[in-house]
Amino acid sequence: MLLLFNSCATNPVTGKKDIVLMSEEQEIALGAQSDPAVVAQFGLYDNKQLQQFIQSKGQAMAAVSHRPGLKYEFKIVDSPVINAFALPGGYVYFTRGIMAHFNNEAQFAGVLGHEIGHIAARHSVQQQSKATLAQVGLIAGMVISPELAQLGDAASQALGLLFLKFSRDDERESDELGVEYATKIGYDASEMADFFLTLQRKQQDSGSTIPDFMSTHPNPAERYTTVHELAAQWKKKENLTTAKVNRNEYLRMIDGLVYGDDPRQGFVENSTFYHPDLKFKFPVPTGWNHMNSPQVFQMAPKDGGAIMNLTLVPGETLEQAAQQMLQGYKLQPVESQSITVNGLPALAIVADQQQEQQTVRTLTYLIRYNNNNYSLMGITTAQSFNNYFQAFKTTMDNFSVLSDPDKLNRQPERIKVVSVQQSATLGQVLQKYNVKNDRLEELAVLNGMELKDPVERGTLIKTISH
Ligand SMILES: [Zn+2]
Repeated sequence: MLLLFNSCATNPVTGKKDIVLMSEEQEIALGAQSDPAVVAQFGLYDNKQLQQFIQSKGQAMAAVSHRPGLKYEFKIVDSPVINAFALPGGYVYFTRGIMAHFNNEAQFAGVLGHEIGHIAARHSVQQQSKATLAQVGLIAGMVISPELAQLGDAASQALGLLFLKFSRDDERESDELGVEYATKIGYDASEMADFFLTLQRKQQDSGSTIPDFMSTHPNPAERYTTVHELAAQWKKKENLTTAKVNRNEYLRMIDGLVYGDDPRQGFVENSTFYHPDLKFKFPVPTGWNHMNSPQVFQMAPKDGGAIMNLTLVPGETLEQAAQQMLQGYKLQPVESQSITVNGLPALAIVADQQQEQQTVRTLTYLIRYNNNNYSLMGITTAQSFNNYFQAFKTTMDNFSVLSDPDKLNRQPERIKVVSVQQSATLGQVLQKYNVKNDRLEELAVLNGMELKDPVERGTLIKTISH
């Protein structure tokens, strides 16, 4: 790819000249190419009302931003993790996980403004430029899913962009812009500061890092104070006498939102992967990590020496699917055999991919079931192939039809918003709604409250329903 060097562009926020290696046209093209890959990776959350909500608030805010001329798109993706991120050129994504954790529209608006701020100030473009200057590949390795493979470079670029970290200065600037934009469309921007506390508690509880939104952000205590101060300043500046919070409106809107992992898209229990909608199961090798997305289920040993994926491959027959797969991954077949796997017709294929430094060897079972071609592909180097062969084969040989009603009927948890019947502490109220003791703290964080906080009769709070 040829990038322009040393072209100076004026930063829309600061008005200063920045060295930006990418023109606005290139920036827009990068976003437009990457968007399908993001959507393929996570899937869109299936809820018209919520998608319309983010789209309308997003457009209103984009119009008052420093780059109102861009064509923006705002989407909620079907992921349980708490995250919000932006791609260059005007693409903003919120996960259903972050939507579940906001407690009013003003918190949502603050984060929305923060992400639009990254686009308006061209932060990721600067990051991308630095990465290019340093000649750092954004993502290494093989793109596994056929859908992602078809999207090729755009996919790896999009996924690479998601892993970019912004500098602390960029994050500070986005916080400021978030406050400004949220205030300009009438919201109480100080609520964003309260949401930082939720993120902080979530991070402490789970021990996991929150991607973009938390990891590289400045000192949380300082950030909290700064956002409160900025919110007060902008409120004055905009002459905003009544700033919107819209707690009840927001909570009613997310009533019924899927919370946590959605087992309908597949889940792992006792080292077995179950897919209730597609009705199949297979064992995950003991001790291997796994990751599920709408496009691919991936498994990998802790030593990182191999990877095994389940994907769907198009084709009317197994032979067509095999051709598609071999061509798609540029694989040379070594041997191929017709077999049956627990009564299902299948092809077992060993194939190589010649790379500059080494040969990658794969074992694939293509299994025909319910008019779909399931591909279980184990990937490692030719050298390590014998070490992993048995693990690959055991998983593949045990692919079978799922008929256990308990697994087939598994449903996701959902947020259930209730109106408190009798004043009590949050902890007491949650217990009344049958929240188990070991999940009380989790639910307190979800509500942005402490368990000992008093809750008045008639207050809306979030509980969980099955
Ligand atoms: Zn950020």
